[in-house]
Amino acid sequence: MDMTPERWAFTRGYLADVFGREDGVLTELKRAAQDAGLPDIAVSADVGRLLSLLTSLTPGMLAIEVGTLAGYSGIWLARGLRPGGKLITLELDEKHADFAEQQFARAGLAAQVEVRRGAALEQLPRLAAELGPRSVDVAFIDADKREYPAYFAQLRPLIKPGGLFLADNVLGSSSWWIDQEGSPYRAGADALNRQLAADPGFEAVAVPSREGVLIARRR
Ligand code: SAH
Ligand code: MG
Repeated sequence: MDMTPERWAFTRGYLADVFGREDGVLTELKRAAQDAGLPDIAVSADVGRLLSLLTSLTPGMLAIEVGTLAGYSGIWLARGLRPGGKLITLELDEKHADFAEQQFARAGLAAQVEVRRGAALEQLPRLAAELGPRSVDVAFIDADKREYPAYFAQLRPLIKPGGLFLADNVLGSSSWWIDQEGSPYRAGADALNRQLAADPGFEAVAVPSREGVLIARRR
């Protein structure tokens, strides 16, 4: 079963066709994000559905996202929460944060989602002090790939037993890591993958959906 580039493109298209349904709120968000000149690097709808599904398998009361962009993945995550559940999403870029806040409101999620502005590595220690250990059901990271191990170091104590640590782009970002030898972005993602795989406190695996998604559950 050789995975030629053509077969990979076909497989990705097939997954998007079959599992990539999204509603008008998300389709409209993507159109508006493009008009606003935001980068087109959000997760795909089939990965969004995976984030939602995984979140819904937890108690779904508190989720953290690192890297909001336009709010696309955040809406999927928030839709997996239980009633009364909350998503806190961290974003460095003011323009992205403003745009996403509007989109969360448009999606009817203003009360469930809080956007926090600033560099994740400055925000995370504050968040840790505020939330306390073992308080988070789902943590999803998707910001600066070079900082992935540092995000995990900050988030690890916050995750509840049975909670999930998820990461996007663990196999590539724009192109496959396999084609980006020497890249510090690749090194960050690779270090995270290996760290989770070796961590006795987690059961971890990655799936090759879109650009690769790491799924780890705290024991
Ligand atoms: N999760 C989004 C895509 C995120 S793209 C989705 O799939 O819909 C990465 C985002 O991380 C960008 O908006 C970028 O501005 C933000 N970012 C980059 N470095 C960051 C940092 N150090 N702290 C917080 N956010 C950061
Ligand atoms: Mg990503």
